[in-house]
Amino acid sequence: MFRRYNPIALSQDDNKIFSSRRRFLATTAGAAAVLSGSDTSAQPPAPLGDDVTLTLTNGKIHTLDAADTVVNSVTIRNGRFVAVAAPAPSGPSVRTIDLNGRTVVPGLVEPHIHIVSLANRPGYHTILENTTSMRDVQEALAARRKDVPQGAWITSMGGWHPNQWAEHRHPTLAELDEAVPDRPVFLYERFTGPAATNTLGKRYFDSVDAAPPVHPDIKKINVSDAGAIAPCGFVGGGPCASALFLLRRMQTFEDKKRSTVDAMRYSVSVGLTSCLDQVLFPTPGPLHPSQILSNLDQYRMYDSWLALHREDRTIVRLQMNFLQNQNDPQLPELHERLRNQFQFFGDDMMRTGAIGEWAAPLNSGAVWMDAQRLVGQAGWRNENAVQNLAGLKQVVEGYEAVNREYDITKLRWVVHHVPEVNSDLLSRLKALGCGVEMGAFRWVTSSDPKVVAGPPFRTIVDHGIQVGIHGDGVHIAPLNPWLHIYYATTGVNSFGDQVNPAQHLTRAEALRLFTRNNSWFLRMEETIGSIGAGKLADLAVLDRDYFSVSDADIKKIRSVLTIVNGNIVHTTGTV
Ligand SMILES: [Zn+2]
Repeated sequence: MFRRYNPIALSQDDNKIFSSRRRFLATTAGAAAVLSGSDTSAQPPAPLGDDVTLTLTNGKIHTLDAADTVVNSVTIRNGRFVAVAAPAPSGPSVRTIDLNGRTVVPGLVEPHIHIVSLANRPGYHTILENTTSMRDVQEALAARRKDVPQGAWITSMGGWHPNQWAEHRHPTLAELDEAVPDRPVFLYERFTGPAATNTLGKRYFDSVDAAPPVHPDIKKINVSDAGAIAPCGFVGGGPCASALFLLRRMQTFEDKKRSTVDAMRYSVSVGLTSCLDQVLFPTPGPLHPSQILSNLDQYRMYDSWLALHREDRTIVRLQMNFLQNQNDPQLPELHERLRNQFQFFGDDMMRTGAIGEWAAPLNSGAVWMDAQRLVGQAGWRNENAVQNLAGLKQVVEGYEAVNREYDITKLRWVVHHVPEVNSDLLSRLKALGCGVEMGAFRWVTSSDPKVVAGPPFRTIVDHGIQVGIHGDGVHIAPLNPWLHIYYATTGVNSFGDQVNPAQHLTRAEALRLFTRNNSWFLRMEETIGSIGAGKLADLAVLDRDYFSVSDADIKKIRSVLTIVNGNIVHTTGTV
């Protein structure tokens, strides 16, 4: 959405926003400087306004158009690219940014992510997914501490894995104290823990353990002397789930809005500007101490994002799929969803998707098959994540069966992850108009150099089926697409071992997948994923040249300037 400000039609409230934005623009040289770095006050994005033309010149701008054209300038107006490689316009309302030869890419697009879960994280979530040692972790937590008011929790939940740290373990209580002595700290790994805390955190959890239970089903947290908290089960609760419950019940709606702003800011700082959210294990309210990090109320989890959208403060495009996880043969929730929800309804900044990452559990037999049929009957897009070749075979046969009753060939049904494939199954999917999304996150848990982690990127891309790539952040894997691009182009895991031999992509291919190709999976290939006149103006100016840096430096790539919908939503002040 690019809101057109019409002063005549503005309400008094709108006028306040309008004039404060204009003052904001007038008083800051880098319009969105306040949006970057450690600042966490929830400032709105800085629109350039209808009367401002922005020209980026002197760059290496990879348009990702059909011919892979690289140009040195683009012009943006009213939220869209209006000219590519044209002479820079001039005039009082033209703002020009000299890129000094920097590399520019279209805003990256993620077709399988759980960013709405990240937006709901309790505490002051700290990004640890890019750290590689205990020292890095300590520095990231200490840096976060500067933004965190007294008494508030510094947290980091999901996205990281001990494999990525040189020490291959969690930080100890003493190490966390060293980094942050004066705020409670709580780190929680993936879906179910384990977790780690510092002295102040342990003091709080110990006091809860010693007091009358705050909920009849809460379990003891039993923090060890070293600050460790044992994992919980997927169901039934346990120490980590209880600790998570305690933090979630402290969260206010304003806290959630802050976490949502933080999630969006981090996303644009790594150049990720569009996300297809694949929900999580839906768990209608109220909060309960058996819920794990990937359990949220599927009816309420969008509230903070929706509120920010109403305030025109969203800076990442979000498409929301709906995941149904019921074994009930009646499929009550899926029936109601298909009856009462519109697919692809909303605007360019926030809209509904369809069904994903599954309509019913893949292992629910006839129930799963009935669910596929219902989605086909409704004419909705449908997605399934598979874990092996048997899963892929099941999905292909299921899609073919549905297609005999209802034509799905125009609905863009999708299979995710695809760790193993064969050319017969890919060809049958292609014949159905389906696409596959290759999961590039398997390096995260890879620790045995003898085990091929997959997926077979090379085989799938060479097949010619519609293909995309995804990271599946932010529980089991990082959100940062550059970490996944590193893996897709090198096959190297966190231990430095080659775990995907002969299946690498070129850098050009990996970038194309993460931009132009992925936009197909959001049904937005006409508007995002490449840079061209008439397209929505999303791009990232990179801090180093993706095409010439060393392999190791791909992981370090960040954006120095990100534009979404023609607005500067992130800048480090470098250009
Ligand atoms: Zn997922």
